[in-house]
Amino acid sequence: MVYEKDYYTILGISPDASKEEIRRAYRHLVLQCHPDKNPEIPSGRFNEVTEAYKILSNDQKKSKYDYTLRMSEAFKGTPETTSDRSRSRIGPDLKISINVELEDLIRQNKKTVVIKRKGACKECAGTGSKNKKRSKCLTCSGKGVVPDLMSIIFGGNKCPHCGGIGSYPDRECKACCGTGQAEESFRKTIQLTPHTKNCIVLQKLGNYPVGGGTPGNLIVGLNIKEHPVYSLRSLNIWGNLEISPAQAILGDSMEIDVFGKKEVVVIPINVKDKMIIKKEGAGISYGDRKGDLILRFNMRLPSEVSSEEIELYRKILDIEGGKRKHG
Ligand SMILES: [Zn+2]
Ligand SMILES: [Zn+2]
Repeated sequence: MVYEKDYYTILGISPDASKEEIRRAYRHLVLQCHPDKNPEIPSGRFNEVTEAYKILSNDQKKSKYDYTLRMSEAFKGTPETTSDRSRSRIGPDLKISINVELEDLIRQNKKTVVIKRKGACKECAGTGSKNKKRSKCLTCSGKGVVPDLMSIIFGGNKCPHCGGIGSYPDRECKACCGTGQAEESFRKTIQLTPHTKNCIVLQKLGNYPVGGGTPGNLIVGLNIKEHPVYSLRSLNIWGNLEISPAQAILGDSMEIDVFGKKEVVVIPINVKDKMIIKKEGAGISYGDRKGDLILRFNMRLPSEVSSEEIELYRKILDIEGGKRKHG
């Protein structure tokens, strides 16, 4: 028996009203709503009041009604019940991960991935039933959960008859053993952009749910390999540029390769270590926007020096020594 009305509200009383209070409320309302006495009140109201009193004045019917009311209240606040219900309609998400180079994002490359998932069984169109029909589970009235007092305390319980789906196949499909699922694999091309973050969510490409419904999402995790020189921040490319002490003091110009693009960098005179320069517009072009190339100078001492260089460094040292003596 399913009660769709709140009989206590109809009679304007609280659920803990005494027998006498129920009777008084009914007598008052029935006089007020009687179609002969008050023709402007819709007749439905009179019927509602009579129906409410019929249930609430009968001990057996009232306790049955109270039990159903308690159950539906408890189910409203049980999170697992809601997720169980939605799980029966939306399949589980599928997670995969792929390796990506920073250059793939910068060059806006496409990546093709092979997706292996639980798809819909073609024999039964994902219904799990040979005649493509499913029947509502009578044990749980299609809710997927059973009104067990213990299960309410512990937060919901799957219906043992339908496994929480709320329905079962009319005639079990042999190809999928009634699950409605079939293993499938297909290729999917993913477009990468400079804005692609660590994961991409592809709607409805996840697993198909048991018993039919909408597939979950496909979550593609990207393992973006760190580049030894460059990193990406929005459309800006950040990088480190190693320069020698002579370049730092005298200034220079260098041609560098930034992901296949040649860039001329002018090193100003007397550059300090870790100093940053920006080449506007030399970052990534995406749509009508352009990022910058931002370079940090890292002064590096030469690992190998020629005899000629040693000679020159000696001269520098002498000069520095002279400065120290005079200073
Ligand atoms: Zn069930
Ligand atoms: Zn099937």
